[in-house]
Amino acid sequence: MKLYIAGGASEHGRNSFLVEGKSIRILVDCGLMREPNGSSRPFLSDEQIKSIDYLFLTHCHADHAGAVMWLYERGFRGIVIASRFTLDTMPGPVRDCLVLEELGERGAKITLDHGLSVTWGRSGHCMGSVWLLFSAEGKKFLFSGDYVEKSAAYKCDKIRDIAADLAVIDTAYGTKGERCRENLKIFKKYVSDEHTARRINFYPVPSHGRGLDVIRILIENGCEVYADEYLIQELRETEGRKNWLRKGMIRASESDHLHPLMQFPIGYACVLRARQRWQQGSGNYLKVKEFSEKAVLPGSAIVVPDTQIAKEWNRDTALHIHDAGGRIVLTGKQIPGGCASRMLAAGMADFLRISVHQTAEELRELRRKNRFARIVPFHSAEQMSFAEKNIIVMKPMETIEF
Ligand SMILES: [Zn+2]
Ligand SMILES: [Zn+2]
Repeated sequence: MKLYIAGGASEHGRNSFLVEGKSIRILVDCGLMREPNGSSRPFLSDEQIKSIDYLFLTHCHADHAGAVMWLYERGFRGIVIASRFTLDTMPGPVRDCLVLEELGERGAKITLDHGLSVTWGRSGHCMGSVWLLFSAEGKKFLFSGDYVEKSAAYKCDKIRDIAADLAVIDTAYGTKGERCRENLKIFKKYVSDEHTARRINFYPVPSHGRGLDVIRILIENGCEVYADEYLIQELRETEGRKNWLRKGMIRASESDHLHPLMQFPIGYACVLRARQRWQQGSGNYLKVKEFSEKAVLPGSAIVVPDTQIAKEWNRDTALHIHDAGGRIVLTGKQIPGGCASRMLAAGMADFLRISVHQTAEELRELRRKNRFARIVPFHSAEQMSFAEKNIIVMKPMETIEF
């Protein structure tokens, strides 16, 4: 069997891995790489694309599933297999697809055509995110997907005691990141200190994944949380949420302290109204700003699904909160030159990482707790090297036999 890296190893984004056997071809993920002038796709030839029997998607994020429509355009005719949530959130129509949960329960062996079987578990990264263990042509190979064991929001079926010839493992935080546990501790202390100081905080987060971890921690620390309606909907209305969300997260989502953003007494709603009036030329922007400063609710938090603060109204809200003595709190990667990274550089924002991936140290832990003959780290652009002989750092367009 061969693993060909179509993207995602030694880079951040464009995750896509082609496994080729004598009578089977599987693609795991088909993601986009976000670049300053657009985005780029996996390194796959038309011939490779047409030969794929199955496309497995570990989760819905664009760096794993964003290039699926492009794959169809290039002649893909295979079957797509993913969790219900992942399939429901695809950016376009998926022709032949199978739902993982309907094929078999987590941990159960699912038999497919071409002598392929697969077992899946929840990877703790976001709604519907999974790891996959395959068996074909006498080989076993594992893809962790984006993986985190200690999420505040999502359940994880820990990868343990698995024997595999090859394991492709999330190492997005590389050698410099702190481990998930430590990050959580630091973040919880920050939230509690800010709450005690009665400061108002602004959290730009992704719409799934990390966003929900943040909401749970804020609510458990006694904050009044004003979250974008989209995030609340994601929490309360997702079908099968009990299968993916931790109990504490479900409790938090039903808490009286979680409010739709439009109910925020002044801040956000006021900014929106101010904007309308301002644009109509009948209002006074500065006057409204004073108003909003007075009415800021101390000790509360605003959570919006806009990680880079790219939307103008979110930027305005962030500026208002900052002017009123509050903080902007970043919890993930900032795109260079984006509003979030500029605010961080200007000292207006704090950065506290909420882990939704693994560090190199956590990859080593998985190595110790399983029996992997070879390990390929993925998801980090850092130039890593490992003393362990069976950890093999690969690059896009490279192939390894196993
Ligand atoms: Zn992801
Ligand atoms: Zn990812």
